[in-house]
Amino acid sequence: VSFRAPKGTDDILPPDSDRWRDLFRVWDDLAERFGYGLVLTPLFESTEVFARSVGESTEVVQKQMYTFEDKGGRSLTLRPEQTASVVRAYLEGGRQGVLKGAYSGPMFRYERPQAGRRRQFYQLGVEYIGEPAPEADAEVVELGHRFLLEAGVPDLDVLLNSIGDAACRPAYRATLVAYLEERRDELCDDCRARMELNPLRVLDCKVDGPRLADAPAAIDHLCGACAAHLDRVKRVLDLAGIGYRVDPRLVRGLDYYTRTVFEYVPRTYEAAQNAVGGGGRYDGLAELLGGPPTPGVGLALGLDRILLAAGEPKGRAPLDLFVVVAGPERFDAALGLVGDLRRRGLRVDVDLGGRSVKAQFKVADRRGAAAAVVIGDEWEDDKVTVKDLRTGEERRIAADDLANWRHA
Ligand code: AMP
Repeated sequence: VSFRAPKGTDDILPPDSDRWRDLFRVWDDLAERFGYGLVLTPLFESTEVFARSVGESTEVVQKQMYTFEDKGGRSLTLRPEQTASVVRAYLEGGRQGVLKGAYSGPMFRYERPQAGRRRQFYQLGVEYIGEPAPEADAEVVELGHRFLLEAGVPDLDVLLNSIGDAACRPAYRATLVAYLEERRDELCDDCRARMELNPLRVLDCKVDGPRLADAPAAIDHLCGACAAHLDRVKRVLDLAGIGYRVDPRLVRGLDYYTRTVFEYVPRTYEAAQNAVGGGGRYDGLAELLGGPPTPGVGLALGLDRILLAAGEPKGRAPLDLFVVVAGPERFDAALGLVGDLRRRGLRVDVDLGGRSVKAQFKVADRRGAAAAVVIGDEWEDDKVTVKDLRTGEERRIAADDLANWRHA
């Protein structure tokens, strides 16, 4: 072949894409059950939107953005995440009060590709904007947890932390910088730069983080309001029966977080990129984007990684029925039946290539149909033969009863 998908991107085709479709469905349904409306925003934004909100000092902004100039000379960037876009849309739309929005779709980061780390990857997320209550943080944590359970990710650790707010973070930051200054010579080059720009992320460093076990932690320097907020988040999670572990080292890579941060780490997933999702509160983000003070909390789950971490799918057949045409004289009748069953809500397909019965059964198998319906001589009596493709069991039934046919 002369053309290949760009490095770090994937083509996802049937039957592999069946699981993706299932999970997008589970997500849409769950977000709706929790009261989140659908939010659609552009795949690209003015570069400034991400530079301001994600943070000039972050890896994402410094190294990973797909930035280009359009024909009108504007600097645009393919979204590396969607929180900034949703908050930008909230402000631009002149919204006030609460907006609960859910999204799903591709994000773009120029990274060194490997399993679970792609240049185009898919996130499912929610933003709960306009609500300062700690119960909102707990709700968002619960929603992500619920999704991961329904997606079949077993043995999940929910890591929780608080990194304080504008009242207590400056003092904590100064304490941390003083601690790091004393160890400047031991730090890696990246961390020496981080120390000036965003010292909290030194704790997150794969090299230095583990060596700095006695570094001061934000959670021990919270102001009263932040400590009360964290206590309440924990309490509501306890009430909801969601197990979590407070991890004082959890900081997360983006600049806009305040107070609550969290991540989901499957215990079974050993790959280097081990969080399948995370999020946090971002009470300062709207102001970074030029808006009025507006609290918010959100969550993003990485679908690529979830599929690597999830067990085998529950195995719903991708098709309810595959119609097998016994002879060319039955083709029109078969097409009519297929149309009728599809209108009634069944997932039905038929081979259009005039292949032999044997070949049609092969296609039915390959397509993962739960059952085949043979249109043969019995059609004269308005009957069809249904064959369960897993057990091989055959039954002759009235064509009218097919519409109620569901594979167990
Ligand atoms: P982040 O916005 O960096 O916290 O990412 C949230 C989630 O998105 C992560 O936990 C991952 O599951 C997923 N994710 C982030 N970057 C990538 C990537 N390059 N490839 C695949 N998944 C990613």
